Amino acid sequence: MRSFAPFSFARLSQTGGADVSQIKDEAPRTDYGTYLLRSDAPFYVPGGTWPFAGLGTGMSISFGAAVSACGCDDVDLIAPLMSVQDALTAGLALVDPLREVEELDLTAAKGRVLARSVRAGTDMPGFDNSGMDGYALSVGADGQAVPLVLPVQGVSAAGTAVADLAPGTAMRIYTGAPVPRGADAVVMQERTEQRGDGIAVLSLPTLGENIRLQGEDVKLGDVVLKAGTQLDAKTIAACAGAGAGRVRVVRKLRVALVLTGDELAPAGAALDSGAIWDVNTPMLSAMIAGDLAEIVGVHYVADELGSMVAALDGLAGSVDLIVTSGGVSVGDRDHVKPALRNLGAQVAVSGVAIKPGKPITLSRLGDTAVVSLPGNPVSAYVTWTVFGAPIAARLSGVAQGGPKPRRVRADTDLRHKPGRAEYRPARITGYGSDGLEVVSSGTATHSAQLAPLAVADGLVLIPGETERLEQGDLLEFLPFQA
Ligand code: AMP
Ligand code: MG
Repeated sequence: MRSFAPFSFARLSQTGGADVSQIKDEAPRTDYGTYLLRSDAPFYVPGGTWPFAGLGTGMSISFGAAVSACGCDDVDLIAPLMSVQDALTAGLALVDPLREVEELDLTAAKGRVLARSVRAGTDMPGFDNSGMDGYALSVGADGQAVPLVLPVQGVSAAGTAVADLAPGTAMRIYTGAPVPRGADAVVMQERTEQRGDGIAVLSLPTLGENIRLQGEDVKLGDVVLKAGTQLDAKTIAACAGAGAGRVRVVRKLRVALVLTGDELAPAGAALDSGAIWDVNTPMLSAMIAGDLAEIVGVHYVADELGSMVAALDGLAGSVDLIVTSGGVSVGDRDHVKPALRNLGAQVAVSGVAIKPGKPITLSRLGDTAVVSLPGNPVSAYVTWTVFGAPIAARLSGVAQGGPKPRRVRADTDLRHKPGRAEYRPARITGYGSDGLEVVSSGTATHSAQLAPLAVADGLVLIPGETERLEQGDLLEFLPFQA
């Protein structure tokens, strides 16, 4: 690690050969970002002397980190990059939940997010009813001798009104049917015997036994489900049980994808020399489009600043979320960050201590959130999972969601270069003797290798400070599916 003189408040002009004279003493510390500086003479940065003479021309520096101009992994940290947690907090703070609501039939609402709480439309149960097939009777407070022989008068079946129970009789009753006035218990039919037209009760029920009382589950007007609930089969059941045949849900997010990379060709197309198949368009579409969001446009933008500025400018305000892919690191052909700055975006996160996906950038252009993912598909997958998905969920009003992390054990010793928190695709291979899952995660993450990702069940997190892990050590595992 190279050490630099103190430096924290310098602002250098944007990528593209800044002149030393453009350094200004005004940037707040949180103005993380990478700036390319060209200089061949020592110069003064307010706050300390910072000799660049020995480094030649073309040096990228970041507030947070100094990065070699190639944007590769040789990071000389002069101050910590933003942590994953801080970046997530800052990214989430950029967006507010959508306000627009649509009303849907319950049968069309699966996966959608409740915009309003659902309240019970009646007491539940709505009336005292039987929990069993049997006979309604009155046991009173005093014990009675068994067998107790009673005449049977009348029937109470589900969905019909019921007469009162005549004193000294039993009434045939079925599960869910209203309990007649005058009855205080139901004896299940297995505990009775036929005696001519009547029955013999072989063992007496206790007071109230097998009666489900009106309002014992939920009272009229009680909140059954809170706004922010993402509806699945069981919460849809709760809506129906509360009498909500139609529900008000948050409208779907409108998302635009912006792909940059002059080398990209559609998957399957003939490849010119130097071209590669575009993985991220289909991958990100599959990750993003669904219950919460729809992709309303896919835009291919040349690796050129003016085109990127025009594309982002045209989309801002017309969609809820722009997801860019590629061109977000610090090379000469990476134009996403300069374009965002050019348009006056509010940039909350510009580079994170995460591997893969360090250049991940989170910003806002007017009312439109912008999630800028690195182009390597594994980096894009990981950073969408760690940052993009929670931001989309917040925009959609999801109160809490996503798969919960769990503890697993490493199947082998692992080495890790300290610095960035690493999210490695991992596969569950079995269970340890203590019942915890054991995962296999390979020896390193290669941000362009799709094969390990394709067979992975989730990501294991290797914390930034960790240097090595032994076989059997605990790891945090983020499953792809709940
Ligand atoms: P970039 O983030 O633009 O620096 O790209 C990093 C690497 O990811 C480069 O090797 C790109 O060719 C590759 N890449 C960028 N976009 C895509 C994409 N849509 N599909 C597959 N690979 C990509
Ligand atoms: Mg590129």
